Amino acid sequence: MLKIMRLARYFSAIPESTIKTASSFEQFNLPKYILDVFKEAGYTEPTPIQAMTWPIIMKGKDLVGIAKTGSGKTMGFLVPSLLHIKSKPPVQRGDGPRVLVLSPTRELACQIGAECELFEQKSQTTSVCVYGGANKWLQARKLRLNPETIIATPGRLIDFIDSKETTVKNVSYLVLDEADRMLDMGFEPQIREILKTIRADHQTLMFTATWPKEIIGLARDFLSTPEEIRIGSED
Ligand code: ADP
Ligand code: MG
Repeated sequence: MLKIMRLARYFSAIPESTIKTASSFEQFNLPKYILDVFKEAGYTEPTPIQAMTWPIIMKGKDLVGIAKTGSGKTMGFLVPSLLHIKSKPPVQRGDGPRVLVLSPTRELACQIGAECELFEQKSQTTSVCVYGGANKWLQARKLRLNPETIIATPGRLIDFIDSKETTVKNVSYLVLDEADRMLDMGFEPQIREILKTIRADHQTLMFTATWPKEIIGLARDFLSTPEEIRIGSED
């Protein structure tokens, strides 16, 4: 069941016009290369979180998306990230990525990376996954290819920022995926450190399955009048 809730008082209200469930990809004016990938993947319609969040994200707004695992959040933030990249000048050597996705674990980062790769050839964009417990030199070599998107676990990204293998100063589209899990795993100090070094005018999207007070605190500190989309029940 689809249930949309307006919760914390400091969040801006969702305009009535956006409170509707879309049932087809066509109404989002997506480029053909994205529709082709969906067709190849056998997707026939957007999931509720995708249908609800795409219009908001595509307007450049900050957003908190609360939805359980398996609801399609990855395409929820990846599809608008491709449009965002295409709306900007190409990344130059030394610029660092335009899009940064922070993820709690290597497995989740790699899953996001695999979904990103579905678009790479057709969209002429590149992404690189960096995570702990794996060869740093190989990941550093990939970072030198100037990817538009970096998907990273927080600790390893800080290592690469400190060693000047990349910078996040030009990130204009930031995703905190599985924010609650990242905090459970003790990444809050690293997330705060990374977020402080990103340019002030970036768009921030936070996805989480739960909404405890630590996440609300992080959202309050780093998101700017975000819209909140909650799919499913409150528990
Ligand atoms: P979440 O991040 O919310 O846990 P995922 O983004 O990992 O969920 O998506 C769960 C599964 O649903 C993945 O296998 C993904 O490929 C698939 N999926 C995503 N979007 C759609 C869609 N529009 N239609 C059908 N399947 C989809
Ligand atoms: Mg996910």
